[in-house]
Amino acid sequence: MDNKKVIYCDNAATTAVSKRALEAALPYFTEEYGNASSIYMHGQNAAKAILAAREKIAGILGCKASEIFFTSGGSESDNWAIKGAALLGKKKGKNHIVTTVFEHHAVLHTCEFLETQGYEVTYVPVDENGLVNPADIESAIKDTTCLVTVMFANNEIGTIQPIEEIAKICKEKKVYFHTDAVQAVGNVEINVKEMGIDMLSLSGHKIHAPKGIGALYVRGGINLPNLIHGGAQERGKRAGTENVASIIALSVALEDACKDISAKQERLSKKRDRLIDGILKIQQTRLNGDRNKRLCSNVNISIRGVEGESLLLMLDMYGIMASSGSACTSGSLDPSHVLLAIGLPHEIAHGSLRLSISDEVSDEDVDYILETIPKVVDRLRSMSPLWERICKNEGLTGTI
Ligand SMILES: *Cc1c(COP(=O)(O)O)cnc(C)c1O
Repeated sequence: MDNKKVIYCDNAATTAVSKRALEAALPYFTEEYGNASSIYMHGQNAAKAILAAREKIAGILGCKASEIFFTSGGSESDNWAIKGAALLGKKKGKNHIVTTVFEHHAVLHTCEFLETQGYEVTYVPVDENGLVNPADIESAIKDTTCLVTVMFANNEIGTIQPIEEIAKICKEKKVYFHTDAVQAVGNVEINVKEMGIDMLSLSGHKIHAPKGIGALYVRGGINLPNLIHGGAQERGKRAGTENVASIIALSVALEDACKDISAKQERLSKKRDRLIDGILKIQQTRLNGDRNKRLCSNVNISIRGVEGESLLLMLDMYGIMASSGSACTSGSLDPSHVLLAIGLPHEIAHGSLRLSISDEVSDEDVDYILETIPKVVDRLRSMSPLWERICKNEGLTGTI
């Protein structure tokens, strides 16, 4: 294909490192390479830069610098919060965890592991719009519950959960509340104190910082045991020489991501809504996830009679990079656990398209995407025995 256009619509999988984040990080690879634990100037400069980054991040999230711990990313933050709370719970004879069925695998697989270690986990279902009902969380909490963990926004269908209400319930019940906010940070206003959040995970590479850096907010007073033992870094809580350059980049990227979120929501949701409305004009399609309580960047649509992977390959030929379900599950033939959780049958869950946009996607790009997708869908459907069967048995009209 002679088309040279490249439109990146997979920002929920990862993002490009911003110029500002990169430039802020670069000196720490070369001139300022000292170990932050060393006492000479090079080391102390690194230590000072880490402290400044920690303070900046704390200011943005509405907490103290001493409540921010740097990690290698979202998965590590989730593991640390959940396994840490589980160990704290065990000391008090509490071995029950409440989560939801549609969490990221960093949360689900951690919970499944804990089940093999004598813990009990309740996986609360979500409704057909991909929303958690706080009352369901409340009734799942027992005397033995040591942690509730519910994601802030879902990575596949973009639905934003009633986090403040859930946090309030946890506070009343005196149970720790953790949220995986990897997708929400930078897209939704977050203040951990005002929202009553005890622990929050975030990841750099979803907000234009490098891969392999993230943070965990842990409310003061929660003495989380280490996930990684060794040196005294991160106030003795997370050993390993600091990833100074990436920590600096994270603080800059987070600052940019959280600057004027409401303006960003307005800009992006206009493009998102054009994409949703445009793609839904294709017959036998459906939007996955609540129309309003969703990230300004997320489009997730099921297209009947089309296989997800083929659609992605065809779109790639037209320069459109998108995903089907999440990057973590593609490569396996299982349909997305998130789409199954909102009640989609296997056949429809297989033919889903996620576009996660950023400001880099222009209005012209949206036009191009909306011209391209119907062409590609027509083409794939014309080759699909499944589509032929659907047309014969059910006719072409109607929604799914
Ligand atoms: C990407 C993602 C993660 C994992 O973060 P990494 O930094 O890649 O480990 C966890 N949770 C959610 C919701 C995500 O989108």
